[in-house]
Amino acid sequence: MTSLHQQDADTLFQLLEYFGIDDDVPMSNWVDGHFQAGKGEPIDLYNPATGQLLVTYHDAGADMVNLAVESATRAQQTWMALTASERGRRMMAAVGGLQGHEEALARLESIVAGKPVRDCRAEVVKVREMFEYYAGWCDKQHGHVVPVPTSHLNYVVPVPYGVVGQITPWNAPLFTCGWQLAPAIAAGNGVVLKPSELTPFTSAVLASCLEQAGLPQGLINIVNGLGPETGAALTHHPDIAKLVFVGSPASGRLIAQAGASRLAPTVLELGGKSANIVFEDAHIDNAVAGAQAAIFGAAGQSCVAGSRLLVHESLMDEVCNRLARACPEIVTGLPGDDDTRMGPLQNSRQYQHVTTMIDHAVRAGARIVTGGGRPDTLPEGTEEGYFVAPTVLRDVTPDMDIACEEVFGPVLVVMPFADEEQAVQLANQTKFGLAGAVWTQDPARAHRVAHQLRAGTVWINSYKSISVMSPFGGMGESGYGRSSGLQGLQEYTVAQSVWVETAQEASVAMGYGKGL
Ligand code: NAD
Repeated sequence: MTSLHQQDADTLFQLLEYFGIDDDVPMSNWVDGHFQAGKGEPIDLYNPATGQLLVTYHDAGADMVNLAVESATRAQQTWMALTASERGRRMMAAVGGLQGHEEALARLESIVAGKPVRDCRAEVVKVREMFEYYAGWCDKQHGHVVPVPTSHLNYVVPVPYGVVGQITPWNAPLFTCGWQLAPAIAAGNGVVLKPSELTPFTSAVLASCLEQAGLPQGLINIVNGLGPETGAALTHHPDIAKLVFVGSPASGRLIAQAGASRLAPTVLELGGKSANIVFEDAHIDNAVAGAQAAIFGAAGQSCVAGSRLLVHESLMDEVCNRLARACPEIVTGLPGDDDTRMGPLQNSRQYQHVTTMIDHAVRAGARIVTGGGRPDTLPEGTEEGYFVAPTVLRDVTPDMDIACEEVFGPVLVVMPFADEEQAVQLANQTKFGLAGAVWTQDPARAHRVAHQLRAGTVWINSYKSISVMSPFGGMGESGYGRSSGLQGLQEYTVAQSVWVETAQEASVAMGYGKGL
């Protein structure tokens, strides 16, 4: 009988072939309108569900980055030579290129990222929404006129940077790729994007589908490889005018330094340690369901994961008991199964990190409410896979690592608070500032607390609701700049001020001129 791993490997190669990446050593880059193989060092990808080697590809390297930047530079001029309306139409046509390929794309994402296929299908839908939304913005990026106190007409227009560099992580490769590509090209830029070396294929496939259905050749280029190699070649490239980075704070610092070294601006979308606050008057069923969705979706590998559950002390036992009953019911299993709600962690390094964090917490005095090890419902062939059961810890103090550092895994800490003031103080006791939530049936309290949370996104009686229409981003070590919405679009343009002399007998004054 074919092993689970062999089935996954066979499916992977069938999918790569389906999308036109059918070499022995996969051509993982989409550059200048073609799939191309990297020439750098080999990179092994392991199956998250089995821990076994899936496929090897090669780092793109600096030469491929140069080709990609040249291609994007040419294509950006072609793109900007079109009318704004035509760019919008082309974007709509481009996303139509996914039609009929959605399931294959979701399956490819699922195998490599180890994500439940139902989540990957939802990612494809989100990508479509992102392109549709930003296609609509193409011909609505108006400038404005400034009533300057001289005879000039002064108008301000948003202009694209030129070619932007984007770097993305492994936890939601397709989503993150579409999330940054759509506003970048809607604003008139060319793009070179480097996905995580751990999840190389879906971004390249997405770019190929988009381009073949309507975008200029080379407008979007995907280069795959290691951070310090291909990533650094991109961040240090002199023709990359702006950098947008999604990933960890540690790498974010390096990207910001690379940008600063040549004065290229950056947007940083980084990690989080978000607080989910449950007051004594909360709708308890909703709050407990929300707490699970907040942390166990994507096996906790989500930047906005609600990893700290702050519960009014009167509810502490009840909430923990409910979680202890509910968490083992979360269907944890193979990413490709339709029923699976939680799959493995994506890679062995993450698995080591998460299990070590749990061990340290327990040694420091935390008590396991549920989970803490491997789920006991996994099929044969997954013994070396990177699975961790939904885990809840209590008796955690705010100074413990598990309460302060991002775990990026299915691990929830539950901590009590006595009153509103302490809830806010605990919620804000973090270097991060990405998201947070408040569960209460008192509207005044809901808004009062929401406004005191130091976080880029706050939910009231909800968690993880996001839309491409609404800005998203962090504070503190969760980064700066915004993605999604109008603000996300504006990150990809710069304001240009144009002065037109309207006086018949104009004089150009030395100094600042009259009336300025
Ligand atoms: P990571 O920082 O290790 O890697 C992210 C990307 O940076 C990868 O493509 C990697 O190759 C690249 N990189 C690493 N070093 C580099 C360098 N020196 N130069 C250029 N590129 C380099 O992050 P990860 O482990 O892939 O992802 C997990 C992190 O991402 C978590 O902290 C998570 O919270 C964060 N994240 C944030 C958001 C958000 O929107 N705020 C979304 C998803 C993930």
